[in-house]
Amino acid sequence: MALIVQKYGGTSVANPERIRNLARRVARFKAMGHQIVVVVSAMSGETNRLISLAKEIMPDPDPRELDVMVSTGEQVTIGMTALALMELGIKAKSYTGAQVKILTDDAYTKARILNIDEQHLKADLDAGYVCVVAGFQGVDAKGNITTLGRGGSDTTGVALAAALKADECQIYTDVDGVYTTDPRVVPEARRLKSITFEEMLELASQGSKVLQIRSVEFAGKYKVKLRVLSSFEEEGDGTLITFEEEENMEQPIISGIAFNRDEAKITVLGVPDTPGIAYQILGPIADANVDVDMIIQNTGADGTTDFTFTVHKNEMNKALSILRDKVQGEIKAREIVGDDKVAKVAIVGVGMKSHVGVASKMFRTLAEEGINIQMISTSEIKIAVVIDEKYMELAVRVLHKAFELEAA
Ligand code: ADP
Ligand code: ASP
Ligand code: MG
Repeated sequence: MALIVQKYGGTSVANPERIRNLARRVARFKAMGHQIVVVVSAMSGETNRLISLAKEIMPDPDPRELDVMVSTGEQVTIGMTALALMELGIKAKSYTGAQVKILTDDAYTKARILNIDEQHLKADLDAGYVCVVAGFQGVDAKGNITTLGRGGSDTTGVALAAALKADECQIYTDVDGVYTTDPRVVPEARRLKSITFEEMLELASQGSKVLQIRSVEFAGKYKVKLRVLSSFEEEGDGTLITFEEEENMEQPIISGIAFNRDEAKITVLGVPDTPGIAYQILGPIADANVDVDMIIQNTGADGTTDFTFTVHKNEMNKALSILRDKVQGEIKAREIVGDDKVAKVAIVGVGMKSHVGVASKMFRTLAEEGINIQMISTSEIKIAVVIDEKYMELAVRVLHKAFELEAA
């Protein structure tokens, strides 16, 4: 007997028929003698619909109230899933995040899980119930409803698996595993049988939305056995996230390509190049809980510098007003500009550690297509570039080909 957490995404619970399908799969696992915790997302499109409704009332919605609204999507699907299981004669019980006591901090719309009280779930599992838990939501110390950021049900799934010391966490979605890149953009993309935790973390952090980054972080921290699978296919091993680098001579240099249009670029122009400037610019941004990703600073001959960094598109205006109101005068910057028509493309692979020439191949490939690189950032296993968003898909396709990712 094993304890398995199964997380089903939006397309897997998109309508009653799919929920019945999901219930049949859970029933099969139950019949094998396993204890099952099911985590569900809202029906596909529902979270977006709820966000739009909020914006119709208030263009920049108050985050506490937004979380109250968007968390309802998952409350519908837990009830439906529990009902579908009952219809199959299976004992099932639904739980909201607050009912489980998924305790988070109070950063509405992007809260972090601090603790999970697994006692009720354990007791119900031992009593033969399938526990159906709402993904994406939690509760802060004061009892306020919080949500975990887009794609957050993955994190609920893995965090529950960690708290319950589950044998496996299975992420069921609309693709049958993790691919070399999004198969919707590159049809030749290839499913990976396994991928190292390190690589998955980079792919997720660079925008591969197949797993939310925090779910991968949890899996790494608590060594959760994590697998991505199709909810539409009966068979198939999906993709396993592994924790050991395999001794594989055939290890490709690049394992995958991630991309996203979620970031915006902010440039502070004509900043005096003196100590403390980076802190003066980014300190107030951090104080406002705005995450900064890439940062570039280059000193010009005239002793001033341009300081460029990226933030989530949703937070560009907030960051711009903080800089214009609080920072520009103080540091005597000439101008502050925002650009949200950018995209980020990243190649990822542990093989990069032991190979040279990867960056030059990437830059040559983009140059040959006339794609201008605006920013570059690297780690041991990743090279990411910011480019004009209109070239994003082209860049992904040519890089996928140049690094021969479609070959087995
Ligand atoms: P769910 O609703 O099940 O959580 P998501 O839409 O969040 O599903 O994530 C699955 C999607 O992730 C796929 O449909 C695919 O378009 C996209 N995706 C992006 N990068 C990859 C990748 N490397 N491998 C597989 N899917 C990817
Ligand atoms: N329903 C939430 C979203 O659309 C959470 C999730 O699907 O993981 O982002
Ligand atoms: Mg998702």
